[in-house]
Amino acid sequence: MGEFELIRALFHPLAEATRQHGVVLGPGDDCAIQRVPQGHELVFSIDTLVAGVHFPSGYDPAQLGWRSLAVAVSDLAAMGADPVCYTLALTLPEADSDWVTALVSGLREASFAFGIALAGGDITRGPLTLTLQVQGTVPEGQAIRRSGARPGDLVAVSGPLGGAAAALAWLDATDPPASVEGFLARYHHPMPRCALGRHLRGVASAAIDISDGLVADLGHILEASSVGAELEPGRVPRDFGGTWASLDQALYGGDDYELCVTLAPAALDRLPGHVASSLDVIGRVCAGSGLRLVQADGIIEEIAVPAGYDHFKGR
Ligand SMILES: [Mg+2]
Repeated sequence: MGEFELIRALFHPLAEATRQHGVVLGPGDDCAIQRVPQGHELVFSIDTLVAGVHFPSGYDPAQLGWRSLAVAVSDLAAMGADPVCYTLALTLPEADSDWVTALVSGLREASFAFGIALAGGDITRGPLTLTLQVQGTVPEGQAIRRSGARPGDLVAVSGPLGGAAAALAWLDATDPPASVEGFLARYHHPMPRCALGRHLRGVASAAIDISDGLVADLGHILEASSVGAELEPGRVPRDFGGTWASLDQALYGGDDYELCVTLAPAALDRLPGHVASSLDVIGRVCAGSGLRLVQADGIIEEIAVPAGYDHFKGR
């Protein structure tokens, strides 16, 4: 058995342990087979994470395992889909079995947390890169798209923003202060909002997960829906356990993986209490285009969108 064959074998227990009803056939054949229940649609998305671009070179492999799967599953959550399975294409500079064992442990923890099974994959040699395709299902016609926001809808987010951006300054610190633990947890351990996404099917008019920053990602909804929005910056949540991210980090920082949703005021009232209370209303959709910040003193500031991260142009 070659060294990469040995590395491949490290993933087999993970695939066995996470196998579930929706996966008819897991790894080992030319393809995996997924069952799509009658009356449901397949929802899928692919994400590539490159060392030095999407995570620091030398990043802890167990944390990388959690984070890479969480980030991918977050796109399913944004559509209101139920996670089923994923495939992983892993490019490694060398066959380091300790490193891969740690990666698998992070993937395993995340797989169980999100209820998603490893259904197959591929390993090659080259610069460290992970590509994950995640697949889920949603009742026919109920996936939440970006294009449904209407004037009068509320804009809401599912949790505090800016923590992952605030964590960047502390990633290399050997002994970071306890006050920034909330920031670091957000960066290392993002939580895709799958349960919320399910509740929002048939309720939210549009949704997106916040990967590139609130302004950029809400901008995608506004563009797809041909509408504008007004945000009240004082209502944007940014408290991470008593330590606050800055407003700039909350508006422009990426990697938080909360959901940004639009919904009619009456739809918010229809949600179960604990779900409605998990949403912070931060603004309102209006006719026209563009995004405006409405300050407490009534001064309105127009912001250019999209202003998030563009991997080819930089910020
Ligand atoms: Mg997304």
